[in-house]
Amino acid sequence: MRNVYLDYSATTPVKEEVLKEMIPYFTEKFGNPSSLYDKGLEAKDAVNHAREQVAALINAEPREVFFTAGGTEADNWAVFGVCDKLKEKGNHIITTKIEHHAMLHSCDFLEKQGFDVTYLDIDKDGRVDLDQLKNSITDKTILISVMMINNEIGTLQPIKEIAEIAKAHKIIFHTDAVQALGNVPIDVKELGVDLMSMSSHKIYGPKGEGALFIRKGLRISNYLHGGAQESGRRAGTENLTGIVGFGKAAELARVHFDEHVKHCSELRNYLVDRVLKEIPDTILNGTMDGRHPGNANITFKYIEGESILLLLNQFGISVSTGSACSSKSLEPSHVLTALGVPVEMIHGTVRFTVGDFTTKEDIDYVVDSLKNIVTKLRELSPINEKKGW
Ligand SMILES: *Cc1c(COP(=O)(O)O)cnc(C)c1O
Repeated sequence: MRNVYLDYSATTPVKEEVLKEMIPYFTEKFGNPSSLYDKGLEAKDAVNHAREQVAALINAEPREVFFTAGGTEADNWAVFGVCDKLKEKGNHIITTKIEHHAMLHSCDFLEKQGFDVTYLDIDKDGRVDLDQLKNSITDKTILISVMMINNEIGTLQPIKEIAEIAKAHKIIFHTDAVQALGNVPIDVKELGVDLMSMSSHKIYGPKGEGALFIRKGLRISNYLHGGAQESGRRAGTENLTGIVGFGKAAELARVHFDEHVKHCSELRNYLVDRVLKEIPDTILNGTMDGRHPGNANITFKYIEGESILLLLNQFGISVSTGSACSSKSLEPSHVLTALGVPVEMIHGTVRFTVGDFTTKEDIDYVVDSLKNIVTKLRELSPINEKKGW
């Protein structure tokens, strides 16, 4: 059976070149970067080389890049670091209804500690309203956090404009750029962001590694306390292999940026075109104008996304559902809810994300399988249109 992975926004395979760079740092080059003898210095050099590679991808200075154990830690550090540092100044945060749970659940926690959080709406295209943002700012606002690209619907936010608004009000601006990294051009100097979260495993690097960009001169409280690693700002012995891998992945993302974007967007567009044309009662969620090059988020009316996912899995195809229906939660997707998608349609939504190893044959196989599955499920569906729903 064919195996087709269309969930690149969940995670990506580590590229061969990345793995090759990492391997020596498990064995002969295993030193602790804090040690002062040659073996330690060799490891420290590798960490700093990776820092340069990540910095180059976002046009930052290497000293503005701090390695973390992934995007989640970077988001947590940004929000808790600012709130702790500036708690005397104010207790108000502005974010959006469509952030990743790494941000939303951090905000829940802060609300319990007495912080006020404003959650901005998004419009039918999936973008925040800059007027609502401006109107939400108070003299107690200490942080604005808006993700660059949403992980479910792939929409790109007007980051530069938001950064300008934040700057005009002397408010710190954080963006979660985990989905954006390597998929849209990012220049932190041009964009004017103060803090930016990144993750390695979404750009063909290893899991459990990421970074927080902290603009030069900006002080936020530390999140992990311990040794003096990362210039005394992020404690804990460096994940040497993870950092080396993230660095290499960042370099590949920078060097192959144009072909990556072209490859993904062509296949994504081909998938969207075929599905919308060949399968009736399907809807694409989120605008195509300013979107993650690999993301397609599609509602199949009258049926359950979970059923589609499970049947596609039987064909060797991996996708994800728009609704986060796990054994624990039957909550419909907070992102599609914010987008105004009716709840029964949210349950019929599937996210397809293509990547560097996806081929046109893969897409054909997926669409052909989908046609069969959707027809079958609709015949069985109690809420089928023909039955008067
Ligand atoms: C994956 C993801 C994260 C979490 O990153 P991890 O490295 O998996 O902790 C945060 N934000 C967004 C938008 C993501 O897609």
